[in-house]
Amino acid sequence: MTCSSVVARIAYLASETLVDSLPPLPATSEFASSFSVTSQSSRRRPNVITVPTAAIQLQLSSELPVLHLAELASPPLVLHIALLNDLSDVLLLRAIVPYFILSTNSQQAHDNALLASKLARSQKKAVVHAFFSRNETDVATELSEESVLAFLFEENDVINVNGHSNGVNGHSNGHSNGTNGNGENGHTNEINGNGANGHSNGTNGLDSPEAIVDDQVALQLFQNYEAAALNTLKAIRRPLRPFVVHGSSNPTTVIFSLGKASFEADIEGVSFVDVSLLTPLLPSRILSAIPQTATSVIVLEQIQNWSLKWTPLYLEIVSALQQRNPDARRIVHSGILGDSSQISHSDILRLIEKASTSTSPSSRLRLGPPILSKETVTSGGPHIPKHELSYTKILSHLFRERLEVSNSPDLVSTQGLLSTSPEFALGRVRGQIDERANLVAAVQDLLQSGLIDPDLHSLLSNWVLAKDDGIKSRSLGKEIVKKLESISSSVDVHRVLTLKAHFPSVSRWIIGSDAWSYDLGSSGLHHAIASGLNVNILILDTLPYSQRNSADPTRRKHDVGLYAMNHGDVYVASVAIYSSYAQVLQSLLEADKFDGPSVVLAYLPYETEDAPALNILKETKLAVDAGYWPLYRWDPSKESKGAEPFSLDSDTIKNDLQTFLDRQNHLSQLVRSKPQLASELVSSLGETVKEIRKKKALQSYNDLLSNLDAPPLTILYASDGGNAEKVAKRLSNRAQARGVSTTLATLDSMSLDSLQQEDFVAFITSTAGQGEPPQNGRQFSKALNAAAARGESLLPKLRYSVFAMGDSHYWPRPEDAHYYNKPGKDLDTRLEKLGGSRVAALGLGDDQDADGYQTGYNAWEPQFWKALGVDSIEVTEAEPEPITNEHIKAASNYLRGTILEGLDDTSTGAIAPSDGQLTKFHGIYQQDDRDIRDERMAQGVEPAFSFMIRVRMPGGVCTPKQWLQMDQIADEHGSGTFKITTRQTFQFHGVIKRHLKPAIQDINRVLLDTLAACGDVNRNVVCSSIPTKSKLHAQVHQFCVSVSEHLVPRTTAYHEIWLDKKMVAGDALKDFEPLYGEFYLPRKFKIAVAVPPTNDVDVFANDLGFIAIVDNGELAGFNVTIGGGMGVTHGSKKTYPRTGDIIGFCTPEQGKIVAEKVMLTQRDNGNREDRKNARLKYTIDRMGLDVFKAEVEKRLGYQLQPARSYTFDRNIDDYGWSTGEDGRHHFTMFIENGRVQDEAGKEFKSGLREIAKVHKGAFRLTTNQHLLVSDIAPENLSQIKSILAKFKMDNLSYSGLRLASSACVAFPTCGLAMAESERYLPILIDKVEKICEENGLRNDAIVMRMTGCPNGCARPYVAEIAFIGKAPGTYLMLLGGGYYGQRLNKIYRETVTEPEILDILKPMIKRYALERNEGEHFGDWTIRAGYIAATTSGKEWYDRMGGEEQFAQQS
Ligand code: SF4
Repeated sequence: MTCSSVVARIAYLASETLVDSLPPLPATSEFASSFSVTSQSSRRRPNVITVPTAAIQLQLSSELPVLHLAELASPPLVLHIALLNDLSDVLLLRAIVPYFILSTNSQQAHDNALLASKLARSQKKAVVHAFFSRNETDVATELSEESVLAFLFEENDVINVNGHSNGVNGHSNGHSNGTNGNGENGHTNEINGNGANGHSNGTNGLDSPEAIVDDQVALQLFQNYEAAALNTLKAIRRPLRPFVVHGSSNPTTVIFSLGKASFEADIEGVSFVDVSLLTPLLPSRILSAIPQTATSVIVLEQIQNWSLKWTPLYLEIVSALQQRNPDARRIVHSGILGDSSQISHSDILRLIEKASTSTSPSSRLRLGPPILSKETVTSGGPHIPKHELSYTKILSHLFRERLEVSNSPDLVSTQGLLSTSPEFALGRVRGQIDERANLVAAVQDLLQSGLIDPDLHSLLSNWVLAKDDGIKSRSLGKEIVKKLESISSSVDVHRVLTLKAHFPSVSRWIIGSDAWSYDLGSSGLHHAIASGLNVNILILDTLPYSQRNSADPTRRKHDVGLYAMNHGDVYVASVAIYSSYAQVLQSLLEADKFDGPSVVLAYLPYETEDAPALNILKETKLAVDAGYWPLYRWDPSKESKGAEPFSLDSDTIKNDLQTFLDRQNHLSQLVRSKPQLASELVSSLGETVKEIRKKKALQSYNDLLSNLDAPPLTILYASDGGNAEKVAKRLSNRAQARGVSTTLATLDSMSLDSLQQEDFVAFITSTAGQGEPPQNGRQFSKALNAAAARGESLLPKLRYSVFAMGDSHYWPRPEDAHYYNKPGKDLDTRLEKLGGSRVAALGLGDDQDADGYQTGYNAWEPQFWKALGVDSIEVTEAEPEPITNEHIKAASNYLRGTILEGLDDTSTGAIAPSDGQLTKFHGIYQQDDRDIRDERMAQGVEPAFSFMIRVRMPGGVCTPKQWLQMDQIADEHGSGTFKITTRQTFQFHGVIKRHLKPAIQDINRVLLDTLAACGDVNRNVVCSSIPTKSKLHAQVHQFCVSVSEHLVPRTTAYHEIWLDKKMVAGDALKDFEPLYGEFYLPRKFKIAVAVPPTNDVDVFANDLGFIAIVDNGELAGFNVTIGGGMGVTHGSKKTYPRTGDIIGFCTPEQGKIVAEKVMLTQRDNGNREDRKNARLKYTIDRMGLDVFKAEVEKRLGYQLQPARSYTFDRNIDDYGWSTGEDGRHHFTMFIENGRVQDEAGKEFKSGLREIAKVHKGAFRLTTNQHLLVSDIAPENLSQIKSILAKFKMDNLSYSGLRLASSACVAFPTCGLAMAESERYLPILIDKVEKICEENGLRNDAIVMRMTGCPNGCARPYVAEIAFIGKAPGTYLMLLGGGYYGQRLNKIYRETVTEPEILDILKPMIKRYALERNEGEHFGDWTIRAGYIAATTSGKEWYDRMGGEEQFAQQS
């Protein structure tokens, strides 16, 4: 029980209106929870109003925004004020209110709260009740609600000033020195100095109170206090006294204390007076506590910051003593009461001794160590949450020494906490602007004085002209000051010099939180906006989008943007750094430039300081895309130039708006140009509707006839990977073939309410993550669980059966076995619990069965037909064959499909599913923003579809012109960033359908294309980036290009669709694919060319690899590898990664044809039945390596030569500067995970754009997703170096781990992602590299890779440590890959989360640091140390998986 809670309860019960003064979000009121607890049991319902304070740190005047101070005295109100440890602020109120009561423990707080309420009610006056809130361990006996209400609201509330009219004396435990006091009744005698509680000290040698005349008003107030205290005593049976005297009865020293102290010390000759009533404090009562025997009085007050010389209680006591006989005056010492918890007996003795030896009573004493006051705690300034630094960093980066934050936390140490308030900042700005105006006037006077030499005159004139230029005004100012200081001083010169600080033009900013939005008036924000001053205000809004509704509805935020725009002369921008960095930059620059007030509203949603950046990013995206936080800029200065002042920068809203306007325009143009069409349009629309209705009626009738025997069936599925969906669709087809009318939907699209209306439902669900339901079944499962937990019987009508799909070997540990098919099992039991009838037993499909899930399904389905009553129906029609990619390819007319028509369809942002397969061949993937998928689903709109475009760029080499074009395409058509991929090319995300064609045309405009960058064809051919061997690289790159060109599809569909080239019409002229034929390849095909000793391309991870063999510096040819591949399907042991096998050697001239024949052998032998088993690696393992090789050689017409020797020693990039043999320079930079974007402190996009503008060489992309600025001529070196340095792109001071890491894109764009990758790996590395550093491994490269799904785009299966996404936050962990990509790793743990990863790696890395041999790499060591078995071939990948020594021992 805390003081706050007992006070809050009394306040709630006593009040008609309760005002809760709140701190800024996200903190909540200390009292709020007590109000809510009390309200649950109380019959009282006061009107509770919450009022925010502008900032908790502000001084008292702002902490009490409810009333103006002068108004406090009159109304009947109680102001309960919780204190931490200092009375400095609250004592300011003492002089204003009639009553000021102080409590120092919970019981006192309870009793005084009652007393204060009673006083306020009966006297109709204001009472301040201050109490120390941090008394967690205190215990208070609380009065019941009935008693409180009876006490406070009793009819006869008349105060009897003598307070002794009834028989309750209540003073039995009240007095401390009552042996010589009043009678039992404890009656109050107005002049005898006894308290209301009757404690007696009337004749114990004090000055005669009669001699003192109290102020009559104060006396009346005091008597009323005593009467109220007596009434309270009756209710609570505890005395309440204005002060408590204890200790010696004949003291020589009296110690008064005002604050949190209770001196238990028993010191001879010392009495203690604990004060709890500070106003009204009668001199007579004070004197009654100071006996004649006392020669010294010490007044201790818990006041840490008091601006006046004398403190309040001290003054009261001195003034009381002055009324006494002057001869009997005592020395009165003032003292500060420190931390009372640390005061000992000897401290008090020391204090008394010090007081006795002190020659000057005015020197202040101190008892107890100082309390860390707010000022002391925050001496370094208020803490700025780390996330908020992202905006302040941009400000300092943009404006550098021009930046002037007018409420900077740095000012706190000199100006106090108030300096962070907007009012303070505005005052500061106004002062500075005035002073600068004075400087301008002074300079002009000096110019006109004729007393200065021509040089100085010219400098001053130039300054006047350039005074608003940040750079010039500073440099000119410096020169002027130097000159002025060197010449003889005159009044005019002196005047200028006193204002010299204002020579530079600065960018003035006031930075605040969204708390200011609650409180426009009193926060000073309004004044800043209305001031017309050239000041910029940055307001950070941190409320996460997902919690937008959890904010207190009574605390309404004002739309500051709208408010500011209404002023008409204010620049306003709404920005979000995690959505558009470029827009933030632009807005801040525009705000700075704007001559007048500017308000920049910045979104930064985070709950706690530990919130990962990823969450902020997701919240930002939700807020921006949903329109909750629109990005815009409003620049009223544009209006005068005839431009549109408002710019909407949110892409999603802009696109939606554009689509809407396009449609509107189209219709209105049509109607306007052909008015006769309007009626036809409408009538034909009507006809169509009628037609559709007729058809529907007919269909319904037919359905009715055909379904007379069986009830309608609803099939609900939950599926992540697509298998359960496939089974559900098949079940639906087969049900229809039996005459059953079916409805097919995902589980999450069904609500429990709707399910209540269903008769017959089949549920098909797969298993995700740690036995969780798949994504599209989670909401439903949650609702079902909740209903089952409530014990409801919701589904009495439902007849159901569940078919569950999973993998019984997915969790190797016996204790995890229950996760197998858990979602299906849970569903089955919950449905039964909710009253459903199971019509067929739960079916269990297991990937481990001979036919996979089909085995279980074959047993389940007949039972289900039987339950449905259609088991005897013979199905004569053949089941419709599922449409596979092979069908789509064959029917596509050489990759055309209906892509063109789909692009024209503006009713959806998507294209047809079959076209989605075909566009891959054109380098385009349809995706949707997965971060906001659920949100959009909840809104009932289609997912936020967009497209990924991948460029074909053999060998990863491009020109500066091409780079600039990529940069522009990202801005104009994509998400503003682009990615360097693991296949050495560019990838754009977030391209909406309308922008697809222009984007592809722009790519082709600079002689690049996207053809065959994806799809079942040969993909982008990659090759090593070897800066030092210029000649060799040129040869290898040329080889790479020639292979790519040789294997590129020949269809003209690409040119036709995207480049508007002439259509190859109908049968007259047909496309011809000499290599691929109309079916193309069974699956994708990847080729890499490596140049030893670097294996940066991971040649063994490719279907086909060429390892360059160099003789005497000349390219002699290539060793040929075949059968590498990375993709796996979780839980399917038919799938595995594989490293390629070397099958021989070929010359450079033969290479192209070798590539062709390997590809054609795969084309003709690859598995077209099962895409999961279609890659070359499976074909080779099925046919046998020798057979496959023989087939290739047969097609070649010759045998490959024996392989030659070579050595690899790494697969990571060689960072830094290098010089080629031709004397040209190259710089390999680290771009984390290949994302080219601008971030605070890492402006790669802008920096590389600057380089591309001046660079005359080339850019080379690496397959590790990094970049070489290549072929820099010596004469251009310094220029490139300075740009690299300017944008900090030359920074390579990263850990070895980070430099050797890579991640695929995954969320939010990749449709296959099961977990984060690119956005999460850097965060994980932050933590793992700390472990490395602790063990002295900062510079040791450990190849760590991560992908969001088992497809393995970042080649995780050859990394030394890898993480492969299984579910959000859950990964498969692999260990033991070869350092230079020569060996596969192996599954070490099947599911790990971050804490587990760190727990595993901590001891492992430590051991590695201690036990490794010279030069031994981490992957090799994990095998030697017994953590994991070495993987010798893809087919054995699953053997001995799971790691740890028992597996090593089995070998
Ligand atoms: S590995 Fe998976 S999640 Fe990552 S980009 Fe490739 S397909 Fe997407």
